[in-house]
Amino acid sequence: MDDQKAPSMFQRGFTFVLKGDVNVVSVKIGKPRLSLIQGDLTKQPTQAIVNAANSSLMGGGGVDGAIHRAGGSSILKECQEIVARDGRLPTGQAVVTTGGRLLAKYVIHTVGPVWTGGRRDEPKLLADCYRNSLRLAQEKGIRTVSFPSISTGAFRYPVEQAAKVAVKAVVDFLRDSEGIDEVIFVLFDTSTYRVYEDALKAVKDNRRR
Ligand code: ADP
Repeated sequence: MDDQKAPSMFQRGFTFVLKGDVNVVSVKIGKPRLSLIQGDLTKQPTQAIVNAANSSLMGGGGVDGAIHRAGGSSILKECQEIVARDGRLPTGQAVVTTGGRLLAKYVIHTVGPVWTGGRRDEPKLLADCYRNSLRLAQEKGIRTVSFPSISTGAFRYPVEQAAKVAVKAVVDFLRDSEGIDEVIFVLFDTSTYRVYEDALKAVKDNRRR
Protein backbone atom coordinates (compact mmCIF):
# COMPACT_ATOMS: atom_id res chain seq x y z
CA MET A 1 0.00 0.00 0.00
CA ASP A 2 1.51 3.24 -1.07
CA ASP A 3 -0.07 6.03 0.87
CA GLN A 4 0.14 5.84 4.64
CA LYS A 5 0.93 9.55 4.96
CA ALA A 6 -2.17 11.17 3.56
CA PRO A 7 -2.74 14.91 3.26
CA SER A 8 -5.08 16.52 5.74
CA MET A 9 -7.33 18.44 3.38
CA PHE A 10 -8.98 18.62 -0.01
CA GLN A 11 -6.24 18.37 -2.63
CA ARG A 12 -6.49 17.42 -6.25
CA GLY A 13 -4.94 14.04 -6.93
CA PHE A 14 -5.00 12.97 -3.31
CA THR A 15 -7.36 11.18 -1.04
CA PHE A 16 -9.84 13.37 0.75
CA VAL A 17 -8.77 12.81 4.31
CA LEU A 18 -10.48 14.71 7.07
CA LYS A 19 -9.23 15.43 10.56
CA GLY A 20 -10.17 12.44 12.68
CA ASP A 21 -10.02 9.88 9.87
CA VAL A 22 -7.65 7.30 11.29
CA ASN A 23 -7.28 4.51 8.81
CA VAL A 24 -6.46 5.30 5.20
CA VAL A 25 -5.20 3.31 2.28
CA SER A 26 -4.96 4.43 -1.32
CA VAL A 27 -3.98 2.78 -4.59
CA LYS A 28 -3.93 3.75 -8.25
CA ILE A 29 -6.11 1.82 -10.71
CA GLY A 30 -4.54 3.13 -13.90
CA LYS A 31 -5.02 6.89 -13.64
CA PRO A 32 -7.84 7.00 -11.08
CA ARG A 33 -7.32 6.49 -7.39
CA LEU A 34 -9.21 4.09 -5.15
CA SER A 35 -9.07 4.79 -1.43
CA LEU A 36 -10.44 3.28 1.73
CA ILE A 37 -10.88 5.40 4.79
CA GLN A 38 -12.50 4.90 8.12
CA GLY A 39 -14.81 7.84 8.70
CA ASP A 40 -18.20 9.49 8.29
CA LEU A 41 -19.55 9.51 4.74
CA THR A 42 -21.67 12.61 5.36
CA LYS A 43 -18.53 14.69 5.95
CA GLN A 44 -16.78 13.75 2.71
CA PRO A 45 -15.95 16.63 0.36
CA THR A 46 -16.03 14.49 -2.79
CA GLN A 47 -18.34 15.85 -5.50
CA ALA A 48 -20.83 13.07 -4.76
CA ILE A 49 -21.54 10.72 -1.91
CA VAL A 50 -23.60 7.58 -2.45
CA ASN A 51 -26.58 6.80 -0.24
CA ALA A 52 -27.45 3.22 0.69
CA ALA A 53 -31.14 3.99 0.28
CA ASN A 54 -34.25 1.86 0.13
CA SER A 55 -36.69 1.66 -2.78
CA SER A 56 -39.08 4.23 -1.33
CA LEU A 57 -36.30 6.88 -1.23
CA MET A 58 -38.05 8.23 1.87
CA GLY A 59 -35.05 8.07 4.19
CA GLY A 60 -34.51 5.52 6.91
CA GLY A 61 -31.91 4.50 9.45
CA GLY A 62 -28.16 3.99 9.13
CA VAL A 63 -26.27 5.96 6.55
CA ASP A 64 -29.51 7.00 4.82
CA GLY A 65 -30.81 8.75 7.95
CA ALA A 66 -27.43 10.35 8.56
CA ILE A 67 -27.35 11.79 5.03
CA HIS A 68 -30.84 13.29 5.30
CA ARG A 69 -30.11 14.72 8.75
CA ALA A 70 -26.85 16.31 7.60
CA GLY A 71 -28.08 17.40 4.16
CA GLY A 72 -31.44 18.87 5.15
CA SER A 73 -34.97 18.52 3.82
CA SER A 74 -34.27 19.53 0.21
CA ILE A 75 -32.79 16.08 -0.50
CA LEU A 76 -35.95 14.33 0.66
CA LYS A 77 -38.09 16.69 -1.41
CA GLU A 78 -36.10 15.81 -4.55
CA CYS A 79 -36.39 12.11 -3.71
CA GLN A 80 -40.17 12.47 -3.36
CA GLU A 81 -40.33 14.14 -6.78
CA ILE A 82 -38.32 11.30 -8.35
CA VAL A 83 -40.60 8.63 -6.86
CA ALA A 84 -43.74 10.56 -7.85
CA ARG A 85 -42.43 10.72 -11.42
CA ASP A 86 -40.73 7.33 -11.89
CA GLY A 87 -42.02 5.12 -9.07
CA ARG A 88 -39.96 3.22 -6.50
CA LEU A 89 -36.28 2.74 -7.28
CA PRO A 90 -35.52 -0.91 -8.14
CA THR A 91 -32.70 -2.71 -6.35
CA GLY A 92 -29.34 -2.13 -8.06
CA GLN A 93 -30.43 1.11 -9.77
CA ALA A 94 -29.29 4.65 -8.96
CA VAL A 95 -30.65 8.20 -9.12
CA VAL A 96 -29.09 11.54 -8.27
CA THR A 97 -30.18 14.56 -6.23
CA THR A 98 -28.33 17.63 -5.09
CA GLY A 99 -26.48 17.46 -1.79
CA GLY A 100 -28.41 20.11 0.14
CA ARG A 101 -26.25 21.36 3.01
CA LEU A 102 -23.65 18.62 2.56
CA LEU A 103 -20.13 19.37 1.39
CA ALA A 104 -20.81 17.01 -1.51
CA LYS A 105 -22.64 18.74 -4.33
CA TYR A 106 -24.61 15.60 -5.19
CA VAL A 107 -26.06 12.54 -3.50
CA ILE A 108 -26.39 9.42 -5.63
CA HIS A 109 -29.08 7.17 -4.16
CA THR A 110 -28.85 3.47 -4.84
CA VAL A 111 -30.73 0.49 -3.39
CA GLY A 112 -28.66 -2.44 -2.23
CA PRO A 113 -30.06 -5.97 -2.09
CA VAL A 114 -31.43 -7.35 1.16
CA TRP A 115 -29.40 -10.48 1.99
CA THR A 116 -31.54 -13.62 1.80
CA GLY A 117 -28.72 -16.15 1.70
CA GLY A 118 -27.41 -15.39 -1.79
CA ARG A 119 -30.18 -17.13 -3.71
CA ARG A 120 -31.72 -14.00 -5.20
CA ASP A 121 -28.86 -12.67 -7.26
CA GLU A 122 -27.56 -10.56 -4.38
CA PRO A 123 -23.92 -10.39 -5.65
CA LYS A 124 -24.97 -9.16 -9.10
CA LEU A 125 -27.44 -6.66 -7.64
CA LEU A 126 -24.81 -5.33 -5.23
CA ALA A 127 -22.26 -4.93 -8.05
CA ASP A 128 -24.99 -3.15 -10.07
CA CYS A 129 -25.30 -0.57 -7.27
CA TYR A 130 -21.62 0.38 -7.61
CA ARG A 131 -21.58 0.24 -11.42
CA ASN A 132 -24.80 2.19 -11.91
CA SER A 133 -23.79 4.82 -9.36
CA LEU A 134 -20.48 5.35 -11.14
CA ARG A 135 -22.18 5.41 -14.55
CA LEU A 136 -24.54 8.09 -13.31
CA ALA A 137 -21.60 10.05 -11.90
CA GLN A 138 -19.89 9.86 -15.28
CA GLU A 139 -23.03 11.13 -17.04
CA LYS A 140 -23.24 14.08 -14.64
CA GLY A 141 -19.53 14.92 -14.98
CA ILE A 142 -18.93 14.00 -11.33
CA ARG A 143 -15.26 13.00 -10.96
CA THR A 144 -14.95 12.10 -7.27
CA VAL A 145 -17.34 9.74 -5.48
CA SER A 146 -17.54 8.33 -1.94
CA PHE A 147 -19.39 5.10 -1.16
CA PRO A 148 -20.50 3.51 2.11
CA SER A 149 -20.51 -0.25 2.56
CA ILE A 150 -23.85 -0.81 0.81
CA SER A 151 -26.19 -3.50 2.20
CA THR A 152 -24.03 -4.56 5.15
CA GLY A 153 -26.10 -2.79 7.82
CA ALA A 154 -29.86 -3.18 8.05
CA PHE A 155 -29.85 -5.24 4.81
CA ARG A 156 -27.58 -7.87 6.50
CA TYR A 157 -25.29 -8.72 3.57
CA PRO A 158 -22.26 -10.48 5.15
CA VAL A 159 -19.52 -7.88 5.06
CA GLU A 160 -16.70 -10.23 3.90
CA GLN A 161 -18.73 -11.17 0.83
CA ALA A 162 -20.04 -7.66 0.21
CA ALA A 163 -16.55 -6.15 0.38
CA LYS A 164 -15.23 -8.52 -2.30
CA VAL A 165 -18.12 -7.69 -4.63
CA ALA A 166 -17.85 -3.95 -3.94
CA VAL A 167 -14.10 -3.64 -4.43
CA LYS A 168 -14.10 -5.79 -7.58
CA ALA A 169 -17.00 -3.85 -9.12
CA VAL A 170 -15.27 -0.51 -8.53
CA VAL A 171 -11.83 -1.70 -9.64
CA ASP A 172 -13.26 -3.18 -12.85
CA PHE A 173 -15.21 0.00 -13.54
CA LEU A 174 -12.18 2.25 -13.01
CA ARG A 175 -10.03 0.09 -15.26
CA ASP A 176 -12.57 0.07 -18.09
CA SER A 177 -13.95 3.60 -18.08
CA GLU A 178 -12.86 7.21 -18.07
CA GLY A 179 -14.11 10.30 -16.29
CA ILE A 180 -13.77 9.32 -12.63
CA ASP A 181 -10.65 10.53 -10.79
CA GLU A 182 -11.23 9.08 -7.36
CA VAL A 183 -13.49 6.62 -5.59
CA ILE A 184 -13.43 6.39 -1.82
CA PHE A 185 -15.00 3.73 0.34
CA VAL A 186 -15.85 5.44 3.62
CA LEU A 187 -16.17 2.73 6.25
CA PHE A 188 -17.77 3.65 9.53
CA ASP A 189 -16.06 1.24 11.91
CA THR A 190 -12.65 -0.39 12.19
CA SER A 191 -13.84 -3.93 11.58
CA THR A 192 -15.60 -3.01 8.31
CA TYR A 193 -12.55 -1.00 7.27
CA ARG A 194 -10.25 -4.01 7.84
CA VAL A 195 -12.50 -6.30 5.81
CA TYR A 196 -12.41 -3.87 2.86
CA GLU A 197 -8.63 -3.56 3.22
CA ASP A 198 -8.34 -7.35 2.91
CA ALA A 199 -10.66 -7.35 -0.12
CA LEU A 200 -8.54 -4.69 -1.82
CA LYS A 201 -5.35 -6.64 -1.12
CA ALA A 202 -6.93 -9.78 -2.57
CA VAL A 203 -7.96 -7.98 -5.78
CA LYS A 204 -4.46 -6.54 -6.18
CA ASP A 205 -2.80 -9.92 -5.56
CA ASN A 206 -5.12 -11.63 -8.06
CA ARG A 207 -4.24 -9.11 -10.75
CA ARG A 208 -0.52 -9.60 -10.21
CA ARG A 209 -0.76 -13.36 -10.81
P1 ADP B 1 -28.07 -0.99 4.26
O1 ADP B 1 -29.54 -0.79 4.54
O2 ADP B 1 -27.74 -0.87 2.77
O3 ADP B 1 -27.54 -2.24 4.88
P2 ADP B 1 -27.04 0.75 6.40
O4 ADP B 1 -27.05 2.23 6.40
O5 ADP B 1 -27.90 0.04 7.39
O6 ADP B 1 -27.35 0.31 4.88
O7 ADP B 1 -25.54 0.24 6.59
C1 ADP B 1 -24.56 0.27 5.60
C2 ADP B 1 -23.22 0.59 6.23
O8 ADP B 1 -23.13 2.00 6.46
C3 ADP B 1 -22.96 -0.07 7.58
O9 ADP B 1 -21.61 -0.57 7.58
C4 ADP B 1 -23.07 1.09 8.56
O10 ADP B 1 -22.25 0.91 9.71
C5 ADP B 1 -22.54 2.22 7.72
N1 ADP B 1 -22.83 3.60 8.15
C6 ADP B 1 -23.81 4.07 8.95
N2 ADP B 1 -23.69 5.41 9.08
C7 ADP B 1 -22.60 5.79 8.35
C8 ADP B 1 -21.93 7.03 8.09
N3 ADP B 1 -22.37 8.18 8.60
N4 ADP B 1 -20.82 7.02 7.29
C9 ADP B 1 -20.37 5.87 6.74
N5 ADP B 1 -20.96 4.67 6.94
C10 ADP B 1 -22.05 4.64 7.74
